[in-house]
Amino acid sequence: MRGAMQRDYDVAVVGGGLVGAAVAWGLARAGQRVVVLDEGDIAKRASRANFALVWVQSKGLGMPEYMGWTVRSSESWRQLADELKVQTGLDVSFQRPGGFHLALGEAELEARALYLKRLHNQSGAADTRAVILDRAQVERMLPGIGPEVAGGSFCPLDGHVNSLRTFRAFHKGLALLRAEYRPNHAVTAIAYAHGGFRLTTAKGEVRAGKVVLAAGNANMQLAPMVGLRSPMLPNRGQIVVTERAAPFLRHPVTTVRQTDEGTVMIGDSREDVTDDTNLHVQIGSVEADRARRMFPALGRLNVVRMWAGIRVMTEDGFPIYDQSESCPGAFVVGCHSGVTLAANHALVVAPMIAHGALAADEIGAFSARRFDVQKAA
Ligand SMILES: Cc1cc2nc3c(=O)[nH]c(=O)nc-3n(C[C@H](O)[C@H](O)[C@H](O)COP(=O)(O)OP(=O)(O)OC[C@H]3O[C@@H](n4cnc5c(N)ncnc54)[C@H](O)[C@@H]3O)c2cc1C
Repeated sequence: MRGAMQRDYDVAVVGGGLVGAAVAWGLARAGQRVVVLDEGDIAKRASRANFALVWVQSKGLGMPEYMGWTVRSSESWRQLADELKVQTGLDVSFQRPGGFHLALGEAELEARALYLKRLHNQSGAADTRAVILDRAQVERMLPGIGPEVAGGSFCPLDGHVNSLRTFRAFHKGLALLRAEYRPNHAVTAIAYAHGGFRLTTAKGEVRAGKVVLAAGNANMQLAPMVGLRSPMLPNRGQIVVTERAAPFLRHPVTTVRQTDEGTVMIGDSREDVTDDTNLHVQIGSVEADRARRMFPALGRLNVVRMWAGIRVMTEDGFPIYDQSESCPGAFVVGCHSGVTLAANHALVVAPMIAHGALAADEIGAFSARRFDVQKAA
C-alpha cells in the first residue's frame, strides 16, 4: 500500500506492568502480533508492591459505572485464573470467599454503614450484595476477632489472588502466544503517520499499527504524544508482612489478608507523597497495631518484610480507558486496582482494542473527556 507505514507489529503496548501485561496477553490471545516495550525490572512498579485484593465493596463512590465495572471483573476472574493455569501451568491462587471491612468501635461501624449507603444510593449503582454485619455475625465467620471489633461490612464478591504469580503467568502466557517482551525499551517519543506509529526507544525504533499506553503514572507524559490525556495523581502505600502461620483467616479483610503461602499481609496506607525510597516505620506500626486489634493472635507473629510502593492513580481515582481521535489506533489504559481489573483488561478491553475501537456503551464513562467536563463545570 503506497504511503502506508511498514509495521513490525499489529500493536505496541507501552509498559509491561500488570496492566500492560494483561492487555498485551488479551491482544495476543485475540491473534494480534504484539510487542511490549518496558523499562523492565529496574522500574518501580506498583505491580510488585500491591496488596493483591480482587475487591468490589468499596469501589465507585462518585462514579457508579465503576461499581459495575468492578463487579464484572470479579465475575470474570475465575475464567481468567483457569485460562492462565491451563496455558502456563501456574496456579495464581484466586479465591473469592467474600471479604470484610472491619470496624474498630461503633463510630467506625456507623461511618462504614453510611459510606455503603451513599455508594448504593447512587443512580445506576450495581448490586454488590454488600451488607453490614454486627459483631456476633462477623465472629461466626471470622473467629478470633479482637474485643474492639464492633462489626463490619461483608461482600460475597470480594476475593484475593497471588498477584506476583499472576504477573508471572501473564508474562509466561505472552511468551507462549509469541508476543515479544522487550525490557530496557523505555519509550521516549511516539510519532503517528500514514496510519501507523513509530515509537522511539532507548534501543531503537519500533513500528506498529496500534499503540496502547499502559505505562502506569508515566501515561501522563506519553498520552499527549498521541493526542490523548491521562491526568495522574500518584500516592504511596506501605505494606507489612509477617512470618508464615497456619491458616487462620478464611476471608480477606481490607487491610489484613493471609496469603496462599501462609504469610499475613497488613496494609495498606495512603500517603500523598511519591517518595518510595524511605520506609516510614511509624506508618507500619499504626497498620500493625490496627491489625493486631482486629486479630490479637497477630501479636505473636514476627514481621519479616515491609515495603512501600507508589500507586498508579488517576486524578479522580477512576480508570482511564480512551482512544485518540487525532491519532486513530492509539489507546490509553490506566488505573489503580490493576489486580482487581486484570480480568476486564485481558478479556474485555483487549478484544475491543484488537477490533480497533473501545465500545462507548460499555466503557465510555471511563474516557478522559470526563476531566474536560469537570473543568468546564
Ligand atoms: C501499596 C499498594 C497496594 C495495592 N493494592 C491493590 C489491591 O489490593 N488490589 C488491586 O487491584 N490493586 C492494588 N494496587 C494497585 C495495583 O498494584 C496497580 O493498579 C497495578 O499494579 C498498576 O499496574 P500498571 O501496569 O499500570 O503500573 P506499574 O506496575 O507501575 O507498571 C508500569 C510499567 O510501565 C513501564 N513504563 C513506564 N514508563 C515507560 C516508558 N516511557 N516506556 C516503556 N515502559 C514504561 C514501567 O517500566 C512499568 O513496568 C496496589 C498498589 C499499591 C502500590
